[in-house]
Amino acid sequence: MIFHDSVEQAAEYGQGSLGEMAKRKIPATPDNFAVWYTHISGREPDLSRMITILEDNDQDFTEVVCTDLYNKFFSSGIDEVTLNDTTDRIEKELTRILGYVGEAGEGAAEFGDTLASAQGDILGSKDVHSLKIAVTKVLTETRKMEETNKVLENQLADSTDEIGQLRDDLEDMRKEALTDALTGIANRKLFDMELRSQARDAMETGESLCLLMLDIDHFKKFNDTFGHQTGDQVLKLLASTMTKAVKGNDIPARYGGEEFTVILPQTDLPGAKQVAESIRQRVSSKTLVNRTTKEDLGKLTISVGVSKFEFGESLTDFLKRADQALYKAKNSGRDCVVSQDDLDSDVLDFE
Ligand code: GH3
Ligand code: MG
Ligand code: MG
Repeated sequence: MIFHDSVEQAAEYGQGSLGEMAKRKIPATPDNFAVWYTHISGREPDLSRMITILEDNDQDFTEVVCTDLYNKFFSSGIDEVTLNDTTDRIEKELTRILGYVGEAGEGAAEFGDTLASAQGDILGSKDVHSLKIAVTKVLTETRKMEETNKVLENQLADSTDEIGQLRDDLEDMRKEALTDALTGIANRKLFDMELRSQARDAMETGESLCLLMLDIDHFKKFNDTFGHQTGDQVLKLLASTMTKAVKGNDIPARYGGEEFTVILPQTDLPGAKQVAESIRQRVSSKTLVNRTTKEDLGKLTISVGVSKFEFGESLTDFLKRADQALYKAKNSGRDCVVSQDDLDSDVLDFE
């Protein structure tokens, strides 16, 4: 999640959050604070809706309820059982290595200390990323030790293999946490991370950066007519169409529901409009057919908004302009591309 609040705004939200948490006797832990800050700032309507529903039903904000809220809206998406299981495997392997080291005597004392500290890091890891860092540290140290101590060679070789495998598993878990399960493209979390890093790169290099916001037209009606499952297939098809229509550095992502986005690094506004137009045409020029039943599902269209990053602006503003352009595309009859240049800059008019 991207936070770009000013110092004053953040102070207001922060104090507001602490007040609301105190009223409900919710401990002000970092996780709970993230939940309430986000709620108070109103940037996650689904979270606020859930809190309202809980309150309307007189639910207490017990530890379990708070943890659920945090996991639903902020955790990486990897379920805790998998993470705990992996942590257990790493822990076992470390204990085994520490056993060998103990047998090897004094020379290995320093290595033992490093491993013991890594063990602390691993037990304290709350997410895949920090766990991976700790495991990599163990792997590097174990390799070093393997080289310098022949007696331990074989035993450590086995352990390095196992730890290497664990590290690969963690990498797979990390990828899974950043991928949208239905469409296989980047999910919202990866989109947020990429947008932040691409904006930083653009400012460093002075290159232009653009953004597309895509939304399927009348998708509710499509679902109502052909069913939600067929709707899901459409989302998969659109994701693969977008992926085919863009180049190597471009990043297509599922923003949420039936909304998609593409980050276009090193692309100016006319170039971005072209990409948007090409995706739109690929979608609208064809008729949707169910391969199995041969049923004709008619035409699908999308509307697209395009914005260009202004150096130094907040990512929220950058996104907002793409959103406003998309809104205008919807109001202009749908099945079209609208860029930020087409937005009215004048607010006042004589009628
Ligand atoms: P508009 O042209 O204004 O965008 O109309 P719309 O019907 O597409 O817009 P609206 O936002 O009212 O409805 C979006 C619909 O998208 C609601 C929901 O049925 C559908 N939708 C959202 N997420 C999913 C999903 O994951 N799968 C399926 N099948 N449908 C989804
Ligand atoms: Mg929508
Ligand atoms: Mg729609």
